[in-house]
Amino acid sequence: MNGDHCDVAVAGGGLVGLALAYELASRGAAVTVIDAGHPGRATDAGAGILSPDTNGAAQPYWWDMAHAAGAHYPQLLERIRNDGVDTEGSGYARCGLLSIGLRRHEESWFAPFAEDVLRRAEGRVHEITPAVATSLFPPLGPVHRALHCPGAARVDGRGMAAALRQAAEGRGVRFVPGAVSGVAGAGGAPARTVHRVEVEGHDDVHCGALAVAGGAWSAPMGEWLGCTLPITPTKGQIVHLRTSTDSEEWPIVQPLLTHYLVPWPGGRVACGGTFETGAGFSATVTAAGLHELLRECLSVAPGLATAEYLETRVGLRPSSPDDRPVLGPVPGWANVWVATGHGANGLLLGPYSALLVAARMAPQADERCPTLPAEFDPSRFI
Ligand SMILES: Cc1cc2nc3c(=O)[nH]c(=O)nc-3n(C[C@H](O)[C@H](O)[C@H](O)COP(=O)(O)OP(=O)(O)OC[C@H]3O[C@@H](n4cnc5c(N)ncnc54)[C@H](O)[C@@H]3O)c2cc1C
Repeated sequence: MNGDHCDVAVAGGGLVGLALAYELASRGAAVTVIDAGHPGRATDAGAGILSPDTNGAAQPYWWDMAHAAGAHYPQLLERIRNDGVDTEGSGYARCGLLSIGLRRHEESWFAPFAEDVLRRAEGRVHEITPAVATSLFPPLGPVHRALHCPGAARVDGRGMAAALRQAAEGRGVRFVPGAVSGVAGAGGAPARTVHRVEVEGHDDVHCGALAVAGGAWSAPMGEWLGCTLPITPTKGQIVHLRTSTDSEEWPIVQPLLTHYLVPWPGGRVACGGTFETGAGFSATVTAAGLHELLRECLSVAPGLATAEYLETRVGLRPSSPDDRPVLGPVPGWANVWVATGHGANGLLLGPYSALLVAARMAPQADERCPTLPAEFDPSRFI
């Protein structure tokens, strides 16, 4: 396939669309990624916490998915490196994570959380004393209780996306800048077929299949397809500071009831994030957002008061009504798939979701790959 013809058109080039393109191309498909480059791409702002063991989700399917997604990262990075791409910029590292209760009155929330996590992640998460927690993350203020998860990791969404894009290009994936503005299909019920994607300011892309990976902007694509994709943006602002101390060895700090801190090499510490459900598609930094971030960050870690302010990043999390990803074939279509709705967990889940979807979409389905969890099926919204 060449020119504007491909086996699979991927609509959306965030972490999910890029990972999907890479997986499909790795399975021999000719792939074109069409990306509108909306301000507020979630992948660019994500904090980068990859910690399945300390996630509060209760449902076993979620737990299984998160664990598989966490284990997938090192394997994916190795594959990308084997393709000749430098993955240093992904910032991936097993830095560990502290789950903390800050004050005694938080005990009614912290105690059941700690009991659950220590039981489910026995041997991987340990309770440590407040003094040990502070020795691991020196700027911390008073701590009531702390759990330590040494296996938790962090990833830089921007760097990971850049590495995936380079690896995808190396496998022949084409990139078209522009917004998908419609689709042309053929056939009738029960299964129509998309054969062409319209792109604003660009020639149409003819395709054998379509994958919708538009993040927070996915809902209109559902409308063109005549199916409900109830994805809405949850705005997140996240402030980046720089301390004079090297923070590379510090763990992530995740208080149960307030904002988290994610340390990076070179003294950079990200503090986030706001969780704004009524802000629409605005990707601006607001006074209220900045106020909230700095207030909460310094209440958790007063030792950061003299840190330099670097920047505030803003992203729109793609949220579904039940907080579950939306993964799988689009009802009513023989060749349309969707991978979105990862909400606050897309950096963790996204690349693994892409693997699962690609394994089903690829010309030769990979039967060794686990099946897509039924709980994430798009048909639940029909
Ligand atoms: C502040 C913040 C903190 C976060 N922290 C974490 C964290 O610690 N851990 C974690 O796992 N996750 C985290 N997340 C969530 C994670 O960043 C997202 O779930 C994930 O990046 C979503 O990736 P995506 O590819 O679905 O969407 P995006 O990255 O938003 O990409 C979607 C892309 O699709 C394009 N697009 C949309 N519509 C069209 C169209 N019609 N045509 C062409 N292109 C289109 C857009 O322009 C965009 O480039 C955080 C998010 C935020 C905002």
